[in-house]
Amino acid sequence: MLECNYCGNKCIKKGIRSGIQRFRCQTCMKYQINTYRRQRIGKTDTDLLVKLNNEGMGISSISRILSISKSSVQRIILRVQQYLKRPEIDESDQSYEIDELRTYVGNKKNECWVTYAINKQNGIPIDLVVGRRTTENLRKVVNTVLSFNPKAIFTDGLNIYKGIIPEAIHKIYRYNTNKIERMNLNLRTHIKRLARKTICYSKNQIMLESCLKLYLWE
Ligand SMILES: [Zn+2]
Repeated sequence: MLECNYCGNKCIKKGIRSGIQRFRCQTCMKYQINTYRRQRIGKTDTDLLVKLNNEGMGISSISRILSISKSSVQRIILRVQQYLKRPEIDESDQSYEIDELRTYVGNKKNECWVTYAINKQNGIPIDLVVGRRTTENLRKVVNTVLSFNPKAIFTDGLNIYKGIIPEAIHKIYRYNTNKIERMNLNLRTHIKRLARKTICYSKNQIMLESCLKLYLWE
């Protein structure tokens, strides 16, 4: 007799598959076995997985290094990022840089932009939006920055910004988004799927966003 892994009630023997006795819970009807062949993925593996992701490893490599399936790697990434919120930052009267990084999901025609903002002084990432380069998406990032009562916001010459950032604090000079452009290079180096001139790319926008969140905020 086995205690149910899910609800704690009694399980009864229910068939044998691949020579292993299966059990079924009488209450929640879930099938389970007594001892699983592979160990559950613990906290150490999860922490390591995040580090590998942030050091330029793709999902397939992580899967091989940790000997867990690709779908497990994806599942863990999604689980970890769920609890990641952009940091609670209490500041005002600071300068920020906003920039967009171009990539694609699935195929080169399916453009996707990573728009994000950092504090110009300390480089801390403030907010992140992954998706098309639309006013709506850019506005999300801009609004987060505006909520900190910024002294100045530095962007490139993209026209959309003019309509959503108050003119008094909007700066569009050349060489003024140095810090965030350096950060773009960090992302290209450390996030496998953003690397140029490789065959690595995102197949799924949610995974792209999740991997970025792990990099920026974990
Ligand atoms: Zn049960």
